[in-house]
Amino acid sequence: MTAFTAKRLPRQTGPAGWNAILPPQPTLPRLEQNTTADITIVGGGFAGLSAARRLQQLDSTLKVVLLEAGRFAEGSAGRNSGFMIDLPHDLASDNYAGDGLEADRATIALNRRAIAFATDVAHDCDLTDETFDPCGKFNAAATRAGDRHNREFAQHLEQLGEPYTLYDRQQMQEITGSPHYTSGLYAPGTVMIQPAGYVRALSSHLAEKIDLFENSPVTAFEKQGSGWLVKTRDAQASTGRIILANNGHLESFGFFEHRLMHICLYASMTEPLTPEQIKTLGGLPRWSVTPADPMGTSVRRISGSYGDRLLIRTCSSFHPTIETSPMRLRNAGWVHDRKFRERFPHLPDVRMEHRWAGMLCLSRNGSTAFGELENGVFSACCQNGLGIARGTLQGMGVAELLTKGGSDIADHFLAQPMPPRLPPEPFASLGANSYLIWKEWRSGKE
Ligand SMILES: Cc1cc2nc3c(=O)[nH]c(=O)nc-3n(C[C@H](O)[C@H](O)[C@H](O)COP(=O)(O)OP(=O)(O)OC[C@H]3O[C@@H](n4cnc5c(N)ncnc54)[C@H](O)[C@@H]3O)c2cc1C
Repeated sequence: MTAFTAKRLPRQTGPAGWNAILPPQPTLPRLEQNTTADITIVGGGFAGLSAARRLQQLDSTLKVVLLEAGRFAEGSAGRNSGFMIDLPHDLASDNYAGDGLEADRATIALNRRAIAFATDVAHDCDLTDETFDPCGKFNAAATRAGDRHNREFAQHLEQLGEPYTLYDRQQMQEITGSPHYTSGLYAPGTVMIQPAGYVRALSSHLAEKIDLFENSPVTAFEKQGSGWLVKTRDAQASTGRIILANNGHLESFGFFEHRLMHICLYASMTEPLTPEQIKTLGGLPRWSVTPADPMGTSVRRISGSYGDRLLIRTCSSFHPTIETSPMRLRNAGWVHDRKFRERFPHLPDVRMEHRWAGMLCLSRNGSTAFGELENGVFSACCQNGLGIARGTLQGMGVAELLTKGGSDIADHFLAQPMPPRLPPEPFASLGANSYLIWKEWRSGKE
């Protein structure tokens, strides 16, 4: 009998700060009674929820069940920094430029399809710009090397025919209130989301049409006649087909073993700033900065019903076990505090209210884990760090593959080569963690 059992289930470290600052949300049901489905989706992040919505759009007669291990917005989809980016964003590069002009044009066009899909979600869910803001973002530099990366990226955008604006030190201070930045490159196409707000809204909207279950981790699935039996601890779903949208946990079921890199990222969010602190900080009430060096520090200022706050995202570590430790989170927190003081020396009394860690999944060649893995079992995983746009796109693509037999989005992912194997342990961990430490050290003040 063909059967796949989960070797491990997701375990989160620290609260998902974005979710914690929203009002409590009523829980959706767990899967407690056996059910049937045409398609069962495993995982309720960007890929799983987008797949569910796209399936609904393409064939509303399909019975779709979605099983999420934890609560919606408590996984990585609610733990990220909220940059839904249209431009190439190669984390392994020095300046984000991608694989050449033609490839980058194709990437941009596809990312914008994902953004258009999400814009439609925002419209249907009545999201305000607190949750979904098509405001663009800055690549901010803090050193001469960073200024150079920005100029190189600007040249690349010029060749692509993409709009951008360069800002000098004083203009960056007027925008961010921080004296830290020496230059900035603004590109208008990124949408800034409140990730937990977006995921909550999309899951609640979908729950009106399909069967969504949370706190229902899939522990195994096995062949049953011409379909599959998907098992949780309490019940099971007999289903025609399965979409695995569980990102790095695809490997927990034995797929793509030793080919996926499980990277943990860390973030801290301040308590709401007081009116005096807001005045001292200066700058605009909302702005978003990715570092000119991809291994540097992302910073966001948010404002709205959940207060005026600053977010710091930096530090990364490699974990084949797909989970990090509270000690690592504590260590990252010290780095966050230092990065905060460097950027906002005029806000010495501001404390961090939430600190968290979250996993993302990369491959060594930037390929995804997309397509049919077994007869009737599909995957839409491995987003290579850009999961808001790419996870949305993979979800759309896998739904099109199942209902229409293919599409240009599906073809784009299907044409990618297999993620290459990683070296055996402990060499993979030693190599990856040394590389990350070196890249972070090299990014310096960025
Ligand atoms: C701190 C941080 C900052 C980031 N910043 C950005 C950013 O600004 N922009 C960006 O594009 N990306 C960012 N990312 C990456 C982004 O969050 C991920 O790439 C994205 O969440 C991937 O989407 P996904 O739907 O593929 O997977 P996930 O969001 O991880 O969703 C997969 C879901 O599957 C569930 N699952 C796993 N196993 C099972 C099982 N056995 N049964 C049922 N459910 C299961 C998980 O609980 C999870 O909810 C960041 C990540 C982190 C951690």
